[in-house]
Amino acid sequence: MVIAFWIILIAVTYSILLYIRASLLFNTAAAFIYLVLIMQWSDVDVSWIYINIIIFLLIFIPLNIPALRRLIISNYVLSVYRKKMPSISSTEQAAIDAGTVWWDGELFSGNPDWKKLLSLPVPRLSEKEQAFINGPVEELCRMIDDWQITQVLQDLPDNVWNFIKAKGFFGMIIPEKYGGLEFSALAHSEVVMKVASRSVSAAVTVMVPNSLGPAELLLRYGTEEQKDYYLPRLARGEDVPCFALTGPEAGSDAASMPDTGIVCKGEFKGKKDVLGVRLNWEKRYITLGPVATILGLAFRLYDPEHLLGDKEDVGITLALIHTDTAGITIGNRHYPLDSAFLVGPNWGKDVFVPIESIIGGSDRVGQGWRMLMDCLSEGRSISLPALSTSSSKLSSRFIGAYARIRKQFNMPIGRFEGVEEALARIAGYTFMSDSARILTAAGVDQGEEPAVISAIVKYNLTELGRKVVNDAMDISGGAGICMGPRNLLGRIYQSIPISITVEGANILTRNMIVFGQGIIRGHPYLLKEVNAAKDEDQQRGSREFDRAFIGHAGFILSNIVRSFLLAITGSRIAKTTGSSHSSIYFAHLTRMSSAFALTSDITMILLGSALKRKERISARLADALSYMYLAASVIKRYEDNGVQNSDLPLLHWGCRYSLFQVQESLYDLFENYPNRIVARLMKCIIFPSGRSFKHPSDQLDHRVADILLAPSASRDRLTDGIFIPESNDEPLGRIEDALVKVIAAEDIEKKILQSVKSGTIKKGLGEDVIEEALQSGTINEDEYKIAITAMNIRKEVIKVDDFPKDRWRREK
Ligand SMILES: Cc1cc2nc3c(=O)[nH]c(=O)nc-3n(C[C@H](O)[C@H](O)[C@H](O)COP(=O)(O)OP(=O)(O)OC[C@H]3O[C@@H](n4cnc5c(N)ncnc54)[C@H](O)[C@@H]3O)c2cc1C
Repeated sequence: MVIAFWIILIAVTYSILLYIRASLLFNTAAAFIYLVLIMQWSDVDVSWIYINIIIFLLIFIPLNIPALRRLIISNYVLSVYRKKMPSISSTEQAAIDAGTVWWDGELFSGNPDWKKLLSLPVPRLSEKEQAFINGPVEELCRMIDDWQITQVLQDLPDNVWNFIKAKGFFGMIIPEKYGGLEFSALAHSEVVMKVASRSVSAAVTVMVPNSLGPAELLLRYGTEEQKDYYLPRLARGEDVPCFALTGPEAGSDAASMPDTGIVCKGEFKGKKDVLGVRLNWEKRYITLGPVATILGLAFRLYDPEHLLGDKEDVGITLALIHTDTAGITIGNRHYPLDSAFLVGPNWGKDVFVPIESIIGGSDRVGQGWRMLMDCLSEGRSISLPALSTSSSKLSSRFIGAYARIRKQFNMPIGRFEGVEEALARIAGYTFMSDSARILTAAGVDQGEEPAVISAIVKYNLTELGRKVVNDAMDISGGAGICMGPRNLLGRIYQSIPISITVEGANILTRNMIVFGQGIIRGHPYLLKEVNAAKDEDQQRGSREFDRAFIGHAGFILSNIVRSFLLAITGSRIAKTTGSSHSSIYFAHLTRMSSAFALTSDITMILLGSALKRKERISARLADALSYMYLAASVIKRYEDNGVQNSDLPLLHWGCRYSLFQVQESLYDLFENYPNRIVARLMKCIIFPSGRSFKHPSDQLDHRVADILLAPSASRDRLTDGIFIPESNDEPLGRIEDALVKVIAAEDIEKKILQSVKSGTIKKGLGEDVIEEALQSGTINEDEYKIAITAMNIRKEVIKVDDFPKDRWRREK
């Protein structure tokens, strides 16, 4: 009985100490006090005292003496670690080193500091940025006719090209001192999003020079001469840039490119003996390539004559070349799923350029991959999330109105539960996407270059965009299928796979990059251990490894305890913040963060270097990490928007859906764990009472879908930032107007329907019935006008385009 008391006391004490992550010293002091107490206690069996003294001496003495600890524990672990450590290639190392650790680090910590998240400033545009969006961006949107671009011209019309160049759209990231707009990441994202809501082709054209284009590389790595020459020309649109990395043999594995540059002396612009590079390459899929005047080129540099240094294989290098240089062939153009932005192949045969063409000059030779990775992390955070969120917002705004206007079985189709389910997904995913888009852009504006988060948003927002557009297509039925100027969804449905493929195809991003890069960079101890294990100074390596390892071991123990306690208390013991509705979600996310941190560690222990090949294991952990980030973004957005009551369904939907996904990803992972005993143990620790998070309920779906079905402040906030034309001749302008008019007529239509059912008026066709309802006194003159207006505008909205049956034959 007495022993049971002491066992419970020590278990409770250590649960608390491990939960709060008390230091080793604190834990040792607690054990010592415990020893003193049992020795003082008269009833305690003496053998129990001896057992405790032995345990104390065996555990706490070696743990607190670093030299002893290294000798009997950590040096042994270090030798196993060195054997099992996966080899990291130089290109992988460059990807790992690129960018900064941001919220990914908090999520890997098992105990994120939510106050820090909420204290990030509310992202806002400057006056100048807002004026640009209200001015040139709106004007550009009004000029754009996507049907003309994609179907008639298969290109932007000249006036649009000229406007984009003249107003500085290509120079959004270029500082003012070079003539650029010097916009924040948020402004850049807002511009791309608005333009994309009008035309994806125009948005991609604007986007590329501002993301992985030469400007970004020049700003970071260019020599002063290069910046002074190129940046003003790019900002003014005098030069059109492209960046060529991908080739026929080097797609996802772009670092394996066969394109070469040989350092040599040659003739350039009449000058002989110029130190330079002779280039040979074959590239494809290069956006703006067909019209570019400056080509950014990635190639592998060799220096066989050692004109630059000792190394023969110098490594991946980047150069800027005028496209009219002798030996360059700009090929035809590709035809990317009916989009009209210009993309195509190009080749170079023995193209000689001076060494000054290398971005950053000869100091930067061989650093190309690292330079690309650095720029990729920032670019991926902005442009593709903006593009896909734009598709989601446009779909939400359009299809919500359509579902209210379009009637079948005498009901707006949006009122059928089946359609409501799809509408809820559309609104929920859009809110999640927009929240993550804004938070990530805000992070970049705070000076972060969030490599892992950029991969998370690129992958997840484009995938959510695909789901949104798929649902919207289903709801629109035949109207989404038949192409024509009235169809707003068809083109975005076609273009979604483009954003999924570019800047690293999503399967690769999900399976390899997010967790693979995240665990090394975001984990609080792993990188320290890896670096210590690689340290050539054995003594220093051993000391550093020991320090990291002991912290790591405590981290795992703490996460076991935290995961279990948080699970059995329904996260109620978690330290939380936020408003009354959001605080519980922060608490649940803390629980899932501990569970995720523990699962990451156990998975690494189980799989070691094999984790690199176990892509599906890595992908599930990537999903868990991604959905924690998405949920955190949703809460931040809700709080930043001023805790709006009408946004509550969106908060609940986004958080519940995300938590459910985190849970399912971990469950799926355990189902596929290589070791069944560990899998069961993990489930017992993390989900002791089974699945605790549920998918959003039908009732919540109903409330979320409702937001899309009528004009409201919440609907406006959800779809804020897209272009809404005023004219009724435009499909979105027309449907906006129709939504108000159709809602105004709904009660009148109900009255008419009741009269039809009761036999007061005969069943007939639209206008006749309304006429009869007026004649019979069912409705008055005013109601008649409202009903007729609604009927006519409904007819306009549901119309689809048709063309002369020999139109295409005639065009041939
Ligand atoms: C319209 C368009 C514009 C583009 N613009 C540019 C540009 O301006 N500049 C530029 O340099 N490039 C550009 N790209 C190229 C783009 O970045 C590549 O298409 C992309 O990196 C994928 O390469 P790939 O198409 O050769 O596919 P592949 O490499 O053949 O991949 C095919 C599939 O295999 C998957 N896969 C490959 N390896 C793995 C792995 N290890 N694990 C799991 N899955 C894997 C991929 O995820 C993908 O789903 C553009 C592409 C398109 C379509």
